[in-house]
Amino acid sequence: MLKSKIQSLERISSSLSVVFKILKSRNIATTTGSSSSNGVPKEKVDCVVIGAGVVGLAVARELTLKGREVLVLESASTFGTGISSRNSEVIHAGIYYPPNSLKAILCVRGRELLYKYCSEHNIPHNQIGKLIVATGSSEIPKLHNLMNNGIKNGVGGLVMMEGSDATRMEPELRCLKALLSPVSGIVDTHSLMLSLLGEAENHGTTFSYNTTVIGGHIEENRLSLHISETKHLENWNGKFPLQPEMVLIPKLVVNSAGLSAPVLAKRFDGLRSAVIPPAYYARGCYFTLSNTTICPFKHLIYPLPEDGGIGVHVTLDLNGQVKFGPNVEWIDGIDDVSSFLNKFDYSVCTNRAKLFYPLIRKYYPNLKDGSLDPGYAGIRPKLSGPRQSPVDFVIQGEDIHGITGLVNLFGIESPGLTSSMGVAEHIATRFFRC
Ligand SMILES: Cc1cc2nc3c(=O)[nH]c(=O)nc-3n(C[C@H](O)[C@H](O)[C@H](O)COP(=O)(O)OP(=O)(O)OC[C@H]3O[C@@H](n4cnc5c(N)ncnc54)[C@H](O)[C@@H]3O)c2cc1C
Repeated sequence: MLKSKIQSLERISSSLSVVFKILKSRNIATTTGSSSSNGVPKEKVDCVVIGAGVVGLAVARELTLKGREVLVLESASTFGTGISSRNSEVIHAGIYYPPNSLKAILCVRGRELLYKYCSEHNIPHNQIGKLIVATGSSEIPKLHNLMNNGIKNGVGGLVMMEGSDATRMEPELRCLKALLSPVSGIVDTHSLMLSLLGEAENHGTTFSYNTTVIGGHIEENRLSLHISETKHLENWNGKFPLQPEMVLIPKLVVNSAGLSAPVLAKRFDGLRSAVIPPAYYARGCYFTLSNTTICPFKHLIYPLPEDGGIGVHVTLDLNGQVKFGPNVEWIDGIDDVSSFLNKFDYSVCTNRAKLFYPLIRKYYPNLKDGSLDPGYAGIRPKLSGPRQSPVDFVIQGEDIHGITGLVNLFGIESPGLTSSMGVAEHIATRFFRC
């Protein structure tokens, strides 16, 4: 399904040269009349959003609606081929995150905005609710802690249930206790992104696909972006420095390059390296349930969180497909340009299923042998490594790094999909009073 979605999106394809014609015709780009010493053209623009994932799209829409001229630069041939099309598609309640953290605040606010947006724009979604389950007695205090945390974060409707009551709701479920979160749900991320994109475009946002930001430099305390057509990077062997084909001088830049955001920021010459957090990557694989026509669950079912993730859970998509995942597999970073081109390893090895069965059977003992098929994988953009405490979203403006008009988004892992519209609102109101 993921593949067909991506293929269906690939009809949308533009490149730097085409986009510049558009920019000129709309007077968005103003030729500075200058070129750098090596003859590279320079153009002034209003706002640039780097990356057309769900967060970049939400930010572009928000800034456009606030009257800014927005240009979105995306290295892939279409939108949403990165983390945003490789996740659980769950609308999170906001239970897990430390009170007053950006994750807590933006998840709760983003959820409200997202449900409203989905209802108003006919985006397929369903508030099916979620059960977080304790299957061993040592987990019960942790479940109570989660409930208290969720209440502090302003999550409404949480109910602690006995295992027997949970089994009455979900006959295939076995647990000692369960925390019901009625505000959790699922969303069709592809439809959401398509809608955000359409609205942004209708209000004047220009999208430049196949266009990679390869770095930048600071001039008069503003960031100039170095741009290249993606096709010119595909054979890059890392042995020679990259030369931009164009330099853009925006008033505002939002670095929402997902997995690549920290490595890209390191290529902004003049940005203090001390403000760029270390990047870690954790793959999460999904298996789908086969050999059954009947969906065993009506709710999302989650175990307690684990190191690096929130546990191998049951997710349902809007077509009724049951998915189990994601696990946590720490991976080494790849080189910068490969990360810009999304050359991560997304393969799901059939053998990994044997690790999934015992985890899932803790709460779904009737899972039959041979019923898990490899699904897909996504990669989390993390700011903490194995056995380290989770780190909050990092949304950096001038107050942190000192560069006028630059906002870096680092570590936008889960609940980034849920939070996307909250992140966009936060950026527009806090950093760019339009
Ligand atoms: C396994 C997994 C499960 C998840 N489950 C959930 C969930 O259930 N609910 C939830 O709320 N969140 C979930 N998340 C988190 C959520 O998916 C992400 O937070 C969100 O999709 C991030 O969106 P983004 O726009 O920041 O990144 P992306 O979607 O990756 O977008 C970044 C874009 O930048 C482009 N790019 C990269 N480098 C450059 C460059 N140099 N120049 C130009 N373009 C560039 C990329 O091609 C990409 O399109 C999950 C994440 C993972 C990995």
